Amino acid sequence: MNFDIQKAERLKMLPPYLFVEIDKAKHRLQQQGVDVIDLGVGDPDLPTPPHIVKKLQETADDPANHRYSFTEGLLPLRVAIADWYQRRFEVSLDPATEVLPLLGSKEGIAHLPLALTNPGDAVLVPDPCYPPYRSGTILAGASIVSMPLVAENNFLPDFGAISQRAARSARLMLLNYPNNPTAAVATEDCFKEAIQLANEYHIVIAHDAAYSEVAFDGLKPISFLQVPGAKDIGVEFHSLSKTYNMTGWRVGWVCGNAAVIAALSQLKSNLDSGIFQPIQLAAIEALTGDQSPLAQALATYQQRRDLLVDGLTQAGWTVPKPPATFYVWAGVPKGQSSIPFATRVLEEAHVVITPGAGFGAHGEGYVRFSLTLPTDRIQEAVARIAKVL
Ligand SMILES: *Cc1c(COP(=O)(O)O)cnc(C)c1O
Repeated sequence: MNFDIQKAERLKMLPPYLFVEIDKAKHRLQQQGVDVIDLGVGDPDLPTPPHIVKKLQETADDPANHRYSFTEGLLPLRVAIADWYQRRFEVSLDPATEVLPLLGSKEGIAHLPLALTNPGDAVLVPDPCYPPYRSGTILAGASIVSMPLVAENNFLPDFGAISQRAARSARLMLLNYPNNPTAAVATEDCFKEAIQLANEYHIVIAHDAAYSEVAFDGLKPISFLQVPGAKDIGVEFHSLSKTYNMTGWRVGWVCGNAAVIAALSQLKSNLDSGIFQPIQLAAIEALTGDQSPLAQALATYQQRRDLLVDGLTQAGWTVPKPPATFYVWAGVPKGQSSIPFATRVLEEAHVVITPGAGFGAHGEGYVRFSLTLPTDRIQEAVARIAKVL
């Protein structure tokens, strides 16, 4: 080698991966043949409903679908998305200008700061949060202003606590309800306050609604775009990943404000060349076809949630029942730190849970469980954890 190849400074600025030791320990245990129960990853174990898979299979045979697609997506998909919003939220969207399909919503979320901010601008980011909010902001050269999500405020941001200086420098605010990792749901008042702040300081709001359909006990979470004035200043991200067990397919969308969507679309036209058309056609099938698999999945998650939460509570660890998402956000017993606690649960109970510190400083003191394993595995995990508490 003639010289050391250095990566770009912007990559060096990304936060360190905190779970190196936990990952190593997990792999070491697995190599020793230990039966590790992984409640760490947020990836549905249930299959994509068969009618959606069938649509992909049928359309993949057609050579017309083998060519480049367009960044803006097939019009029938954008129409299906707009119709779904109308049915589900009574929000009307123009499929031509207010809907943009994405290669999974993560892609759009992570690219949005690059499309809207200049270096030195600020982005208001919840803490704890889904990690791409932070990495997308850093890669764009913008600075992060944290909005702490704490239990005393039901894991909603305290907009009054944002300094005038921070609000003035902010170009973008990210919100996410139902929330990963806290499982909190938004109130209409919270969105109204956000919109008021956005108008006062000229901040775009991007709401991530990836879990809008994953809610329990009959709850129907609201859309940010239902709130008056939302579309004037913001967009909402959505995904088929969690609703239809399609994480591997990479299909989602952003909808709402046309100027925001045009900026993201311009950026994306320089980065990707659209979604494989059979996947877009299968996405139409997902949104317009039989919705009963979703109801079944929700019943499954709810059963798992009750088993986990009731089991931990019986073992002396009081954990709240999440109203939505397939996560349980649990305060670590006896005020222990999340990483040593999760490490001990892995070493002694052979159960993987995610330390809250990985989602931001205000995630410290919590761990996240995913409800993405069958009930017998969850039952076994509870029994093992009970022994080490
Ligand atoms: C899973 C998840 C997404 C969806 O990601 P895709 O890229 O659409 O698979 C988006 N936001 C949050 C908060 C998530 O947890």
